[in-house]
Amino acid sequence: MIFKDKVAIVSGGSRGIGREIVLMLAANGADVIFTYLANKEAAEGLAREVEKLGRKACPAQLDSRDFNRSKELIEKTKQDFGRLDVLVNNAGITKDKALMMMAKEDWSSVIDTNLTGTFNLTRNAIVTFLKQKSGNIVNITSITGMIGMARQTNYAASKAGIIGFTKALAKEVASYNIRVNAVAPGFIDTDMVSGLKEEYRKSLAQNIPLGRFGKTAEVANAVKFLLGDESAFITGQVIVVDGGLSIR
Ligand code: NAP
Repeated sequence: MIFKDKVAIVSGGSRGIGREIVLMLAANGADVIFTYLANKEAAEGLAREVEKLGRKACPAQLDSRDFNRSKELIEKTKQDFGRLDVLVNNAGITKDKALMMMAKEDWSSVIDTNLTGTFNLTRNAIVTFLKQKSGNIVNITSITGMIGMARQTNYAASKAGIIGFTKALAKEVASYNIRVNAVAPGFIDTDMVSGLKEEYRKSLAQNIPLGRFGKTAEVANAVKFLLGDESAFITGQVIVVDGGLSIR
């Protein structure tokens, strides 16, 4: 039980990678507060699964673009649990388009959800972490933020921003026993990629050295490592979980 009695917040926990991270944390002993945007049914279903694991689960409808409600969530967590140990900034969206077709709204919604959303929760949680002189943050970025992908200028900019944010904050708070790292997945089987046509999906998989899309559990395993004591000397780093795609 490597996270026994720890208190964790995970953004975008109702589906996909975030859901797997919530379950991984609970299975390892943590109580988990997780956010979602609209999918109340999935969030409540997940809360029931966490409770079956013997841990507390608090689903919270919270648009990651909302700074004030992010602040309230951190304050409520402190009131209800008395502490906060872990923050995983996972909520994210794509709105892929060629730049010449990209509306201002396509740009803003992706930057605001992915990058400003990471700021919103972290800015509020960091005060608690600094006072406690402990805390562990993992931000979910993407290999797109490292190598770029066509039709993803908005998403790539948001994810590259998260990497810069991770490294700068890691330097800023290391002396307070707070670690900040990132995980950069490649193509992972979730709703985010479920809209891809089968043929396109096959051609993408052929370009991945390990020959397949990743599983959500494979991302959660990297998060588990970064949140656990086995990575105690690691901060400001990005672990890539992409089947080798970015080395080609
Ligand atoms: P997903 O299956 O589409 O799930 C997205 C999650 O984020 C859902 O829980 C959703 O809530 C939540 N969310 C969306 N907008 C939100 C907002 N404004 N405020 C709060 N929550 C919001 O996505 P995923 O594939 O698991 O991706 C998770 C993270 O991994 C994202 O940051 C993504 O960029 C990153 N990533 C994914 C891949 C991939 O191939 N899947 C690759 C690289 C990086 P609702 O259920 O309420 O909609």
